[in-house]
Amino acid sequence: MGSVKEYFTSLGTGIASLLKGMSVTGKEFVTPKITERYPEDRDTFKWPERFRAQLKFIYDAEGNHKCIACGTCERNCPNGTITIETKMVDTLTGKKKKLDKYFYDLGSCTFCQLCVTSCPTSAIEFDNDFEQAVFTRSKLVKQLNYLPEKEEPAPTPEQIAAAEAERQAKIAAAKAKAAALKAAKEGAAGAAPATDSGKNATVPVEPKEDKANA
Ligand code: SF4
Ligand code: SF4
Repeated sequence: MGSVKEYFTSLGTGIASLLKGMSVTGKEFVTPKITERYPEDRDTFKWPERFRAQLKFIYDAEGNHKCIACGTCERNCPNGTITIETKMVDTLTGKKKKLDKYFYDLGSCTFCQLCVTSCPTSAIEFDNDFEQAVFTRSKLVKQLNYLPEKEEPAPTPEQIAAAEAERQAKIAAAKAKAAALKAAKEGAAGAAPATDSGKNATVPVEPKEDKANA
């Protein structure tokens, strides 16, 4: 008798479990699908705008970027993904460091975005172009400043005049300082006392009483 009862109990439990599973399956059967059929749906495929796929330079319409070659991103990158090569150029106001080549190794980037957040000029950003598969690791090293670096603009006549005026002012200030120092030295030498601080000064001597004439 006991075995018959157990048989029907387990049968009921099995049927309940089957119905529960079928209800989940039926629910998912009518739920809209979110699975992407990539690459078949590449033309209609949508991915998050803020997805970090690779680092890139921000160029404006004239082909200018805002990188000042300060190296902050290179220093802040935790795994040496960024390598910056710079060069010195002559300008009206002296030598200036400029960007030559900016290398980014996509193969070692962890997409932490420290480089972007630490850049003082907002010169770099991540784009979401994720199709970066290549057959050779070396091809993952990209030069981000892919456009030719522009030469320093020629100075205007006003800038040349201002720089010359500044140079002359500096020369005049240096001359005035030197003259003042020289005058101070000469004045100090002329006002020096004949005796020193008392080491050799004469001390008045009290006349001694002549005991023999007293
Ligand atoms: S990208 Fe930004 S942080 Fe990096 S070198 Fe250029 S200016 Fe400096
Ligand atoms: S995202 Fe992180 S790992 Fe990648 S280049 Fe920037 S700082 Fe380096």
